[in-house]
Amino acid sequence: MPLDIKGIGMTSQRTRDRLAKTLVEMGIKSEAVLDVIRKTPRHFFIDEALASRAYENTALPIGFNQTISQPYIVAKMTEILIKDKELNNVLEIGTGCGYQTVVIAQFAQYVYTVERVDGLLMRARERFQELNYTNIRSKHSDGNVGWSAHGPYDGIIVAAAPIGVPKALIEQLALNGRLVIPIGESGEQKLLLITRTQDGYNEEFFDSVSFVPMLAGIDTSR
Ligand code: SAH
Repeated sequence: MPLDIKGIGMTSQRTRDRLAKTLVEMGIKSEAVLDVIRKTPRHFFIDEALASRAYENTALPIGFNQTISQPYIVAKMTEILIKDKELNNVLEIGTGCGYQTVVIAQFAQYVYTVERVDGLLMRARERFQELNYTNIRSKHSDGNVGWSAHGPYDGIIVAAAPIGVPKALIEQLALNGRLVIPIGESGEQKLLLITRTQDGYNEEFFDSVSFVPMLAGIDTSR
């Protein structure tokens, strides 16, 4: 059998499987999520110089002082979002390099993603096109106000940590919709799930986490 040259080395299936195994050991249970982590080419979302580390369970720099989220966190947030739930539309705040966007796009009919740094968004858009994701819409904007035009949302996932939950995001949740968001100051953040119910909202806290802060306004640098 001829060797699959492309599959050898840092981006090989074996390396990806090893990452999935680490995530299982850390408590990720959803086979669907693990499958998507195995399938999604994380090396495609980072600088070539860092590609050899793409399947390590770590955050990595993506420029503009930002990082691609740690795979465990992407898996955990996705698992919380999809558990026993059909997702029509999902809003993501903090596109970054677009890795998590593409993971979510494999579970939802439509993903709407908002990023405040223009340069990051432009690169992410190119990746969505190259990988042929036609169910992702994106916008250069401040995620603190959400994206009301396409709401209310079945799911909202936030990739940067505010001190308190932005009101607009709660308002843009559909009935039974879920908001997964890291909350708190650097060094003491927790992952929070807010579910909209008939008579209000439910809150449930998960892991301690470490996200970049959610900032206000937009950044036009490219
Ligand atoms: N899931 C992304 C995470 C990137 S880090 C990835 O894996 O690449 C968090 C991102 O949130 C950064 O790109 C940062 O610019 C963005 N961000 C921070 N505050 C924001 C805000 N108010 N609105 C939109 N994006 C924001």
